[in-house]
Amino acid sequence: MKRIINFSAGPATLPLSVLQQVQAELLDWQGSGMSVMEMSHRDKEFMSIAQDAEKTLREIAHIPANYKVLFLQGGATGQFTYVPMNLLRGRAGVDYVLTGDWGKKAAKEAGKYAKVNIAASSEADKFTHIPDPAGWKLDPDAAYVHITPNETIHGVEFHQEPDTHGVPLVADMSSNILSRPIDVTRYGLIYAGAQKNIGPSGITIVIVREDLIGQALPTTPGIFDYKQMADNESMLNTPPCFAWYVSGLVFKWIKDNGGLQAVGERNARKAALLYDYIDSQSFYRNPVRKEHRSRMNVPFTLANAELDADFLKGAKAAGLSGLKGHRSVGGMRASIYNAMTLEGVQALVDYMKEFARTRG
Ligand SMILES: *Cc1c(COP(=O)(O)O)cnc(C)c1O
Repeated sequence: MKRIINFSAGPATLPLSVLQQVQAELLDWQGSGMSVMEMSHRDKEFMSIAQDAEKTLREIAHIPANYKVLFLQGGATGQFTYVPMNLLRGRAGVDYVLTGDWGKKAAKEAGKYAKVNIAASSEADKFTHIPDPAGWKLDPDAAYVHITPNETIHGVEFHQEPDTHGVPLVADMSSNILSRPIDVTRYGLIYAGAQKNIGPSGITIVIVREDLIGQALPTTPGIFDYKQMADNESMLNTPPCFAWYVSGLVFKWIKDNGGLQAVGERNARKAALLYDYIDSQSFYRNPVRKEHRSRMNVPFTLANAELDADFLKGAKAAGLSGLKGHRSVGGMRASIYNAMTLEGVQALVDYMKEFARTRG
């Protein structure tokens, strides 16, 4: 077996030990005589898997008791719609801060249900920074303020929560959830598709403050209604059982590896290794303002775009994959989520150095 070093933006690399555990219990989960894929979600076996996953997540992320944790379907994109459907609470307006394409998409969907105010945007600067919160035009009557703490395509990340003056903060954390310690109490709602930092695609995590739910628009389908889902332990219908199970193993892996503090320190070291190299020379370039650079997604361009194809070809031959940048920005992008090792990032930097030396 030969595993590549996988820099894919998502679905993304998973911890090898988790995959090995999945493999070991694939046919017979802990003496049950069946695969997790074959279990009824109402059986006690799966109930224990589901409850353990939530318990471990609550523990590592220090989620207070007045927050519900939901395991849903429809991806982060589904949440672009479910958030306004559920959180308007009789209000008309919602605030969106745009720091990349995902936030833009979220705002567009919200526009079908609410009056969207773009409180700030860095689009005019090609999403290369976070607009200074002091200049945000927030509406004090907004139902919520929506941000994308890490913009996966542009590689722009909030390194601290903005102050929304009591208006609930909603965050699409798809690409940086569990990448460092987090103060959940600063948020009204956090959502994330699992396939970047948590597990396989097909499951979406929502962490929501209890008092914000229960007032969904009357037309909201039951399975999109946070309150109904919370009351039914995310099992109003059949949940994505297998993805839920793998996510639970990843939560456990985080816990066993020192929790979010240790994970965050490791991620900071990984990101510094790559950015320090990029900043030390002139063949590669990252366009994002230093204090807003992402620790998870590192886009970079080559001095000569005609070398892009050769760069990717050589990378593949060196066992490095998933480096092609998003079609909207071009160049390269290295996604270095929790499961990417420091050695993996070092291998990338070594390859970049060698490519620049021979082709630059
Ligand atoms: C990947 C991603 C999405 C889309 O997630 P889906 O689960 O495919 O809908 C949305 N927001 C951010 C920040 C992402 O990184």
